[in-house]
Amino acid sequence: MNDIKRVILKLSGEALSGDKKSGYDDELIMDIAGQVKQIIDKGINVGVVIGGGNYWRGRSNDNIDRTKADQIGMLATIMNCIYVSEIFRSQGLKTNILTPFECGSMTKLFSKDRANKYFEKGMVVFFAGGTGHPYFSTDTGIVLRAIELDADAILLAKAIDGVYDSDPKINPKAKKYDKISITDVVDKHLGVIDMTASVMCMENKMPLMVFGLNEKDSIVNALSGKFNGTIVTVD
Ligand code: UDP
Repeated sequence: MNDIKRVILKLSGEALSGDKKSGYDDELIMDIAGQVKQIIDKGINVGVVIGGGNYWRGRSNDNIDRTKADQIGMLATIMNCIYVSEIFRSQGLKTNILTPFECGSMTKLFSKDRANKYFEKGMVVFFAGGTGHPYFSTDTGIVLRAIELDADAILLAKAIDGVYDSDPKINPKAKKYDKISITDVVDKHLGVIDMTASVMCMENKMPLMVFGLNEKDSIVNALSGKFNGTIVTVD
């Protein structure tokens, strides 16, 4: 993994509250910032995508129009990015937040050139607001950004420490993969990321590194050979 120059890190919305059931676990986010700083200091570009599940999930609400519910979800991802970006800044990182639609003075409009300009300046670039379209997710958002910005890999920091052949919470004999191809992930419906995002990874050859966020130094380790999660390959 020595040839990695650019990664996009995905944090789920729920992960931000750590062991607390709601809100933000600032200590955890500061720890993430510290790890991201170590990666940036090695000259690797880091983009960040954050889910919105701690606030809202569009498809879980049947009482209002799906498009409107998804718009609320996209706004939730922006709130998460604003919060995490501020904690990152408090830890000495330079950050910027890009969204696929105008949010006044709160974020800047995404473009590939703008993102590249910020990466060149050593900034952490937050990609908030998903794809900007309903019926998608931040999984599709991250794959889209990773592909168009020529990232070398997507880092998926999850509540679980890798990809299993079945849910280890339900099946105590579930087996963790060290390595699995994206074709197998799709064929076996392993749900690492949603199906649309998986197919995009497969078609565009974007590898994934899946690991547990609550394992010490797991983000740094993912890029330093001490990786303990699952690599989703694209060959
Ligand atoms: N969302 C959307 N389009 C996107 C990204 C997100 O509509 O491109 C909405 C959708 O309602 C989703 C919510 O934002 O439920 C939060 O995003 P996340 O990816 O965390 O959703 P999840 O797949 O976990 O529900």
